[in-house]
Amino acid sequence: MSEIESKVVIITGASSGVGEATARRLGASGAKLMLAARREDRLKDLVAAIKKTGGTVAYRVTDVADRAQVQALADATLETYGRIDVLVNNAASLMPVSPLDQIKVDEWDQMIDVNLKGVLYGIAAVLPTMRPQKSGHVINLSSIAGHKVVLGAAVYCATKYAVRAISEGLRLESNGEIRSTIISPGAVATEGLLLQSKGEIRSTNISPDSVATELTGTITDGDTTSGVNQFYSLAMDADAIARAIAYAIEQPGDVDVNEIIIRPTRQEF
Ligand code: NDP
Repeated sequence: MSEIESKVVIITGASSGVGEATARRLGASGAKLMLAARREDRLKDLVAAIKKTGGTVAYRVTDVADRAQVQALADATLETYGRIDVLVNNAASLMPVSPLDQIKVDEWDQMIDVNLKGVLYGIAAVLPTMRPQKSGHVINLSSIAGHKVVLGAAVYCATKYAVRAISEGLRLESNGEIRSTIISPGAVATEGLLLQSKGEIRSTNISPDSVATELTGTITDGDTTSGVNQFYSLAMDADAIARAIAYAIEQPGDVDVNEIIIRPTRQEF
């Protein structure tokens, strides 16, 4: 039996991109899934698709910036499946490239609330279940931007550096029971990128990391736009990240994959 089969896995940000690809892959491997995001219509469609292929899956509409909602997500998972084996902290907030001089404090707040506090709220919601189980696995999505600071993306990068620090802190406190994994992707072709290529850029919700997701639609400088577009022209499929997440989960319980950095082969940055 695969180590993934029957594991109870919560995935935040499951309504698109990496989260959706991860849900599809783990669902096909027999995991019991609880999917979370804000867009209920997207979650419903995904749940139906996974159930159609024989998967075990439920969802709960959740804003990860709201601690009570994240706690309710963990409670609903326990109620549905009786345990929590894995939390994939994947949800992240938009990131228009904006120099600190522009003082976009609302955007700073949002990135910190979702990318950083959302991750902490997730950990707070699952640890009280994982400790008595004496097992559990928290997988946090960081980024290449958690290893290198990108010009104009100081706050976004700060949240992704912080996610790595929190993950390592959790590993140090694991007491041989809790596994902690950091996934740091390079350019990934997620929903926003596809929307952009079709000229249907959403104006308010972009996939972070620089991405040729909606991001490039918010950049006014022509050189920057074409640079980012070029960067994202080589992006990987989201399933590349889902495979890495599956790899970390499927290791035996005494093996903790601490960090995986995954870039497109042609990505230099
Ligand atoms: P997408 O924009 O495709 O998806 C982001 C997901 O997060 C959506 O499902 C969105 O759902 C959800 N989300 C956003 N805000 C909230 C919130 N407040 N509460 C709950 N869910 C929320 O992004 P990606 O798939 O590209 O990104 C996934 C992860 O990978 C992120 O952590 C990102 O930083 C990281 N990453 C991505 C890279 C890339 O090139 N794409 C590169 C490096 C890292 P909804 O709007 O329905 O709530």
